[in-house]
Amino acid sequence: MIPPIASRFVAGESAAGALDHARRMNDDGVAVILNLLGEHYDERAPADEDAAAYVELVEDIASTGIDACVSVKPSQIGLDAGDRVFEENYRRIAEAADEHGVFLWCDMEDHETTDVTLDAFEELAREFDGGMGLCVQANLKRTPDDLERLADVPGKLRLVKGAYDEPAAVAHKQKSAVNEAYKELLAYLFREYDGGIAVGSHDPEMIAYARDLGAEYDRDYEVQMLMGVREVAQRELAADGVEVWQYAPYGDKWFSYFYRRVRERKENALFALRAVVGV
Ligand code: FAD
Repeated sequence: MIPPIASRFVAGESAAGALDHARRMNDDGVAVILNLLGEHYDERAPADEDAAAYVELVEDIASTGIDACVSVKPSQIGLDAGDRVFEENYRRIAEAADEHGVFLWCDMEDHETTDVTLDAFEELAREFDGGMGLCVQANLKRTPDDLERLADVPGKLRLVKGAYDEPAAVAHKQKSAVNEAYKELLAYLFREYDGGIAVGSHDPEMIAYARDLGAEYDRDYEVQMLMGVREVAQRELAADGVEVWQYAPYGDKWFSYFYRRVRERKENALFALRAVVGV
């Protein structure tokens, strides 16, 4: 069982628990992106197993009518597991998502996976003509070119700052440079990109900038934040009429995800400490 301390960031061990969480968030006007925890499988069997779990999840979302979608990680569905395993599993999930009308996101992992992820996304998004979205990372120096390439691919793009510790040869390392790149890319999306724009950030500065760009270009956008991070802001933005999606991971591999959240920010570590020592 997930201890209460981790359940702030993880929506349960089972799909049923995650769907209950999504239902509760929907009551507050927040839609939910469900992600089954798991990554870097180097064998086919667990990748196939998780792909099958996503197909089932898509069917469950459709049959319950919950306002939710899914987000998959390439290395979870076979990127490290040999030739074409990722592409085959991605297609399998995309077919189910298309059949059931459930939106399918793909997370972006480290820079060595960018090309293969972009290729797979582009092929499927063109074939299914939308209903799919891809995460792009502002810290990578290549992203302006990738956005040009993706400009006429149907679907949505989620712009994030980037979670991976990348080499300076390929990535902006300074926080200020990443923030600057984020703003430039966001402006580019509002100006040039016809698909859906998702602001994947907790940063009030980026969210305010998106609001200004939305007004300037008279365009809708969505804000995406992680479960357990700035949840008050998530509900407030939704109450203000912004489309808000909460990314909620679930599954039995919750420990490493929880540990990452606690390590990355002082506020999260203090929260964990308070839960342990009761202060
Ligand atoms: P930061 O630069 O971390 O923080 C900026 C400001 O935001 C802070 O100063 C503070 O005001 C506020 N803030 C941030 N965290 C907190 C907190 N815990 N409590 C209170 N205030 C806070 N990365 C990838 O590489 N690939 C992915 O596929 C991917 N998918 C993502 C999906 C979603 C929905 C989200 C939200 C993030 C995703 N990320 C992904 C992670 C992302 O790249 C960043 O590492 C992460 O979001 C932290 O950057 P930030 O923009 O939130 O702001």
